[in-house]
Amino acid sequence: MAKLYFHYSTMNAGKSTLLLQAAHNYYERGMQTYLLTAQLDHRAGQAQIASRIGIAQNADTYAAQDDLFVKVSDRVASGPVACVFVDEAQFLSEDQVWQLSRAVDDLGVPVMCYGLRVDFRGQLFPGSAALLALADEMREVRTICHCGKKATMVVRKDDTGQVVTGGAQVQIGGNETYVSLCRRHWREATGTRD
Ligand SMILES: [Zn+2]
Repeated sequence: MAKLYFHYSTMNAGKSTLLLQAAHNYYERGMQTYLLTAQLDHRAGQAQIASRIGIAQNADTYAAQDDLFVKVSDRVASGPVACVFVDEAQFLSEDQVWQLSRAVDDLGVPVMCYGLRVDFRGQLFPGSAALLALADEMREVRTICHCGKKATMVVRKDDTGQVVTGGAQVQIGGNETYVSLCRRHWREATGTRD
């Protein structure tokens, strides 16, 4: 039975590493996979899924207007696919999560999505909200705060290291950095939920 999976975490927990490892396990067994990642700028087509430990794989990209049922159907029509992997799944729209659900149900292809649960304001990303609602199986990819507790939140810092609490959910090409924290230290760092 094919399933829709959601592997979620905060930033820098190693989601892309896990994705690439899982895809490699299929490759070692001679099976084909289909890798997708978000198209965040204007370059369509080929992209890379890269992990912080230095491994990378080429991937196809999805844009906001793409029908992912059609994309997966087209790929399946050109040869067997053992599993579809979706990186940056927080950027999926609700419709696209339904399209991936149809691919699981109607084409019988497992789909593994990897993404962030909440943004730097502590709010669900649209793709993550839909995946939390629709996935058959969910797994948390764990990482820790500087205090040793599980990190579930993320703060955005500007290029001077100051924590920022406003601005767009997604920022492309900026100099901001992200730090993963437990909820208590996130509250302390942002001062927004005293
Ligand atoms: Zn902490």
